[in-house]
Amino acid sequence: MITPLPSAGCASSPQAERRSPSCPRTANGHGRPGSMRLADTLRLGAYLARTRWLLRFRNRAAFDDWQRRQVQRFLDKHLPLSPFYRDYAGQPLSALPVIDKQTMLARFDDMNTAGVSLDEATRVALAAETTRDFAPELRGMTVGLSSGTQGTRGVFLVAHEERARWAGIMMARTLPNALMRRLLIGARPVKVAFFLRANSNLYTTLKSRRVDFRFHDLLRGVDCHLPALIEQQPDLVVAPASILARLAQHAANGALPIRPQRIISVAEVLEADDKARIEQAFGMNVHQLYQCTEGFLGYTCEAGVLHLNEEFVHIEPEWLDKERTRFVPIVTDFSRTTQLIVRYRLDDVLRVRLTPCACGAAGRAIEAVEGRCDDVLWLPGAHHGALVALYPDMVRQAVTSAPAALPDYRIEQHGMAWRIAVADEAEASHAALTASLQRLAARHALTPPVFQRMPFADTDAHVKRRRIRCVGRPATNQENHA
Ligand SMILES: [Zn+2]
Repeated sequence: MITPLPSAGCASSPQAERRSPSCPRTANGHGRPGSMRLADTLRLGAYLARTRWLLRFRNRAAFDDWQRRQVQRFLDKHLPLSPFYRDYAGQPLSALPVIDKQTMLARFDDMNTAGVSLDEATRVALAAETTRDFAPELRGMTVGLSSGTQGTRGVFLVAHEERARWAGIMMARTLPNALMRRLLIGARPVKVAFFLRANSNLYTTLKSRRVDFRFHDLLRGVDCHLPALIEQQPDLVVAPASILARLAQHAANGALPIRPQRIISVAEVLEADDKARIEQAFGMNVHQLYQCTEGFLGYTCEAGVLHLNEEFVHIEPEWLDKERTRFVPIVTDFSRTTQLIVRYRLDDVLRVRLTPCACGAAGRAIEAVEGRCDDVLWLPGAHHGALVALYPDMVRQAVTSAPAALPDYRIEQHGMAWRIAVADEAEASHAALTASLQRLAARHALTPPVFQRMPFADTDAHVKRRRIRCVGRPATNQENHA
């Protein structure tokens, strides 16, 4: 079994040092996180061990059986505690409504089991965003805003015992064997460098005497963090793909002498060019964490394959094509009990992996998280006129298969007009990019779009990069999937 992690929590954090022991709550009722309670430390250790070593299944059928029981237990125990779901008590999962982001926000107050209102949660989360102090809690719970690119922001709500559970699962899923050994019995802590646009108590749960966890705020850019990164010499670097690519550039130039044991891409699609650049600079495979406001949905296994985290999250595929190669996930997180995530339809397109992974993990193997649903571009068929989907990976593939290597680019669809930007602003790059997109349309027998040039604007470090985006589809009533 496992050695419990000694005093995990924020004991050594500046926030914890500032906090008076006699004053766990401030006057506005927003407490500050203290050291992790013993119960939570044990919970973290138990979930780490369970996830890493115990949850093994003979085959998919045995796993499905086990998962069905877990989901049922979750529905029986936790659904009645939420006013929204009370009326659905006793019903099977398939009878519950599919929820989208708008409904989730509109019914936030009713859907959580802690009686927290959206106003209250948003106020605390926004205050943290503004002050860049992500420590304050709401009645002992962590709240945060999603890093949504556009439109409505999501809000998440996590109780302290859920934080401990999340941290245990996260460590089990991300640490290579050598770092796991060091975490459990080593003399030195595991050093983690974490880049994101916002920190959260959720992430700092990982901080302890065993884990030297440092947050690098992307609102301040990337390059200003290099000295701290070099000083820390992290074992694990976690960052959005485009930020990792920037770090890789510095490493390749000799400006970032660090030798991490694992590199993990989060929050953005890991594109082939970035992946190659990072792997070359650091000499190792890039792993991925598929984690969003709605939960911890996927991770790269030791064999380098992305798996859905189905030991904790039930995922119904909403198939996008009749060959069942791509789907939109409908998520039920049976490990979360405060903010209930039940049949939540994500806005992502996932591509299944055709060959199973040999590692033995129960979770479905995924080839790629391709992007959001509105990263799918649409063109009418040349013969039938019905709209056909061009999935992000098809478009990326078309760009990377261009005869000459192309610079960074953006494609924005506005009906039949595709606005194109190239980073070097060169006429030749623009022509090569549009030619490869024209070939893509021809290959699928589609009416080619009208190409327009737009100036290239690099994405700020703290904004999620999206190279391909459909702002508006061509007008037609018919629709078909490629
Ligand atoms: Zn695997």
